Amino acid sequence: MKPFDYARAADPAGAVALAARPDAKYLAGGTNLVDLMKLGVETPDLLVDVIRLLPGGIEESAGGMRIGAGARNSDVAADPRVRERYPVLSQALLAGASGQLRNAATVGGNLLQRTRCRYFQDVTKPCNKREPGTGCPAVAGAHRDLGILGTSEHCVATHPSDMAVALAALDAQVHLHGAAPVPVTGLYALPGDTPQVETVLPPGTLITAVSLPPLGFPSRYRKVRDRASYAFAVASVAAALDVVDGTVRNVRIAWGGVAPRPWRAYEAEGALRGGPATEAAFRTAADAELAAARPLPDNAFKVPLVRNLTAAVLAELAGVDR
Ligand SMILES: Cc1cc2nc3c(=O)[nH]c(=O)nc-3n(C[C@H](O)[C@H](O)[C@H](O)COP(=O)(O)OP(=O)(O)OC[C@H]3O[C@@H](n4cnc5c(N)ncnc54)[C@H](O)[C@@H]3O)c2cc1C
Ligand code: SF4
Repeated sequence: MKPFDYARAADPAGAVALAARPDAKYLAGGTNLVDLMKLGVETPDLLVDVIRLLPGGIEESAGGMRIGAGARNSDVAADPRVRERYPVLSQALLAGASGQLRNAATVGGNLLQRTRCRYFQDVTKPCNKREPGTGCPAVAGAHRDLGILGTSEHCVATHPSDMAVALAALDAQVHLHGAAPVPVTGLYALPGDTPQVETVLPPGTLITAVSLPPLGFPSRYRKVRDRASYAFAVASVAAALDVVDGTVRNVRIAWGGVAPRPWRAYEAEGALRGGPATEAAFRTAADAELAAARPLPDNAFKVPLVRNLTAAVLAELAGVDR
């Protein structure tokens, strides 16, 4: 591992000042960053440890909730108010990693974890995201687990977070030190021809909290993965559904494991609102969104997988027999 300096600040402003140094990175739980440093993928000169100064509370706020960026994934998943009012978030967190990792991982770090694309993690291979202009071997190589939506010829990686998919469905806002909040749905950049740019945040931005507006109707997260635990999503669905007299009054759908960011399925939502809450309608709506999919040969199976998964989750939320 490359030698690096380590620093702590007294407060968030001090941390941001320290992180102004080129090649500085914030260290939270370290469960992603330190792994990538060991692999030589991340090579910061300075780690600014923020774990002791980030808020870690989970509080009532404006009818919803505000969760500190330092809150551990396991604490958020176990919070009774989160479980009752935002089950999709609790379920998404519990579907991720392992108990030990969730005890260390934070909300801020979870949002900014890097892709699990195998070429990105292997410094002996080219990768446009890690080294711009070197190429994307995944397009002609191992892409089974990679994206079908929002990708480009330069990068087909997916964002690995389960939590971010639930937050996208919940219309969560990401709060930043010294800057206006951004919605989770607007946090991540699509790769285009600059896959090394992953978010809209300027370098050195410190995430301080995430806020959830009130929801008030049922929600659910379901994840398909290669084994029952300790595996990233092949595909996942976060959904919330409000049905009145058999008609969809409100719906939120976000997909994971299929795109460089949590993919909010606005087309599908628009197709469903005001229409019948039937399984056939759920499938048709998913297809409306999936019309934009550009799968590669080995991940084309994700198209029917996401359609079926979406229909199953919505049917369950609507109480529709399948
Ligand atoms: C074996 C394994 C399995 C996993 N499985 C899953 C899974 O199934 N689903 C899933 O979603 N995740 C999974 N994860 C990933 C895990 O959820 C993340 O590693 C974790 O959430 C990152 O949080 P952290 O606090 O440890 O972040 P760190 O590793 O400390 O930081 C990650 C990145 O975020 C930046 N950062 C951290 N905090 C802030 C902040 N407040 N403001 C700005 N930047 C910040 C850091 O600089 C770094 O770039 C897995 C990880 C491992 C090791
Ligand atoms: S998909 Fe993206 S992260 Fe993976 S090799 Fe291609 S450029 Fe790199």
